[in-house]
Amino acid sequence: MIEENVKKVLGNVPEFNPFGEKVTVVAAVKYQTPEDINRAVAAGIRDIGDNHVQEFRDKYDQILGNPVRHFIGGLQTNKIKYLLGKVDLYQSVDRQRLAEELSKKSAAAGVRSDILLEVNIGGEETKGGFAPEDVSAAYKLIRDLPALGVRGLMAMLPLGASEAENIRLVKQMRGLYDNLRSYDEKINCLSVGMSGDYELCIDNGSNMVRIGTAFFGARDRK
Ligand SMILES: *Cc1c(COP(=O)(O)O)cnc(C)c1O
Repeated sequence: MIEENVKKVLGNVPEFNPFGEKVTVVAAVKYQTPEDINRAVAAGIRDIGDNHVQEFRDKYDQILGNPVRHFIGGLQTNKIKYLLGKVDLYQSVDRQRLAEELSKKSAAAGVRSDILLEVNIGGEETKGGFAPEDVSAAYKLIRDLPALGVRGLMAMLPLGASEAENIRLVKQMRGLYDNLRSYDEKINCLSVGMSGDYELCIDNGSNMVRIGTAFFGARDRK
């Protein structure tokens, strides 16, 4: 089933978005077993993303095929030490203090950490992330931190929004992303899109999607 799902979704995802950028598919692997993750990797997944530090640690050495590792969940500063040097892209840097601590601890460990700034694009009170109007100022502070590389932006669309509203929000993310790119050509990731909305997101300028349910089925939260 996982193999079929991977083939189907990868078949649906265009190689390039309308901006001519290569689209990266990240499998969101929270609550999945190492066996199931390995099946997805064997079927063609090149990037995987975890939400929880404990799960990331428990499964780290059991994943075969050397996929690119993303961290996509909420991160407390006291847990950074467990991830250093093992995460290729921290997608969920949602506050200044997390960026500062990640830089400090990366520098102390002798590594550089690539990050995305998470944007609270729907203005939801229950979600973290920078407000859209604060992104440019936050970027300018964070790019000067010595051990970080800012690679772009990440967002989650609000649950239950209409298609028209989602299109508007993805386009707004694209505008924020293009603005950062005008300062910095190393910015190359706009991570927006999940199982229910990835096609709409890619059509409107996303170049990275994070997909869980469409690969693994509904999550059985143990
Ligand atoms: C779980 C998760 C996803 C994937 O969601 P699906 O709807 O299962 O595709 C994407 N991004 C983040 C941050 C997640 O936690």
